[in-house]
Amino acid sequence: MALLGCIADDFTGATDLAAMLVKGGMRAVQLIGVPGHDDPVPAADAIIVALKSRTAAPGDAVAESLAALAWLKRAGCRQFFFKYCSTFDSTEHGNIGPVAEALSDALGTGFALACPAFPTNGRTVYQGHLFVGGALLNESGMEKHPLTPMTDANLVRVLSRQCQGTVGLVPFATVNNGPAAIRGAMTALKEQGRRFAIVDAVTDAHLRAIGEAAENHALITGGSGVALGLPENFRRAGLLVASDAAALPSLDGHAAVLAGSCSRATLFQIGNARSQVPTLELDALATPDAAALAAEAIAWVKGRLGAIPVVIAASAPPEKVAALQARLGREAAGALIEETLATIAAALVEQGVRRLVVAGGETSGAVVTRLGVRSLRIGREIDPGVPWTYAEGNGVPLMLALKSGNFGAPDFFTKAFAALA
Ligand code: ADP
Repeated sequence: MALLGCIADDFTGATDLAAMLVKGGMRAVQLIGVPGHDDPVPAADAIIVALKSRTAAPGDAVAESLAALAWLKRAGCRQFFFKYCSTFDSTEHGNIGPVAEALSDALGTGFALACPAFPTNGRTVYQGHLFVGGALLNESGMEKHPLTPMTDANLVRVLSRQCQGTVGLVPFATVNNGPAAIRGAMTALKEQGRRFAIVDAVTDAHLRAIGEAAENHALITGGSGVALGLPENFRRAGLLVASDAAALPSLDGHAAVLAGSCSRATLFQIGNARSQVPTLELDALATPDAAALAAEAIAWVKGRLGAIPVVIAASAPPEKVAALQARLGREAAGALIEETLATIAAALVEQGVRRLVVAGGETSGAVVTRLGVRSLRIGREIDPGVPWTYAEGNGVPLMLALKSGNFGAPDFFTKAFAALA
């Protein structure tokens, strides 16, 4: 029976959380979308339901999150985690506040903590203010995000604007005094009628202390950082069986990489792969047609598939992306590339590819949907936040590594396969 039930507001964020729990010794399975009523409960200590609710209409985000919660409750989970981005990505009115409030209502908890800190990735919270590296959130570049511009670093204020209830703060000085002090501060805030508290955290030791302090909370909300402290609670309670939580079944088959992210890290990784392995760069501007582009790639892979990965990239530098967007419109340009890569993915699997790396959050969503993958068992990390996973539910078992665009070292596309050897 699962212990921890998690609801993540986006796909790669769900994987990031799952990888954190696996590192802590919990076996984790990620489910894609709200499972059906009769879907089997996977054998795992933590189940993470990945939604696409970060920028959905608040009503839809709430409804999906509640449906996920109901399923996780039926699966026997005893504690619940609402995972959002470590940069608190949200709009003026949602969706972190409305979803957290609805989950808290459904669980009958009067209070929940909110902590997006992830010091390993440079996200720290001090006096309720979120820093990205050395910059305040609203001066970090996040203020210019196309969908969720973050123009206020004061998270007490940000969360207050999104909630009916009031929001307090557990400040650094308290957090630094350890679990008992944090627990006391949270109890006091709850007694004052606060609905949530932003909890400061600057180091992993703070995150562990917060995790311990929240041992008996029905609901915890935050980034994957705050999940650092949770496995130990279950271990202390004797609920976690010692096992290699990252063990995956082994699977042979051809290797491939599909890239649809135009993030800087991915462009570097493609550049690096070019001199190492067969690499095809698709030119969507020359062939702005998904079927034709996919056919080009499928013809190119003939005779090239094997243990050495082939890399197929639609990714392009900003000026080329802008040119395609100017020609087709932003959405249609994205949809064209996603359709192309999803079609190629299906063809690759048909031709015996069983180890597949996908670069890009939206791109991963499109590929996984096309392949009919419903669930991912989480294995060992290749680079921080990107584990190998074992995909089930699509008839053909697959090893998948789904990489958020900006994640991974420059040699990620070769390193990933070496890690399986
Ligand atoms: P990331 O994780 O880096 O944000 P995503 O896959 O989420 O990557 O987003 C990248 C988006 O850019 C996708 O919608 C993809 O279809 C689109 N895209 C990829 N290549 C191109 C291109 N050459 N021109 C225009 N859009 C592109």
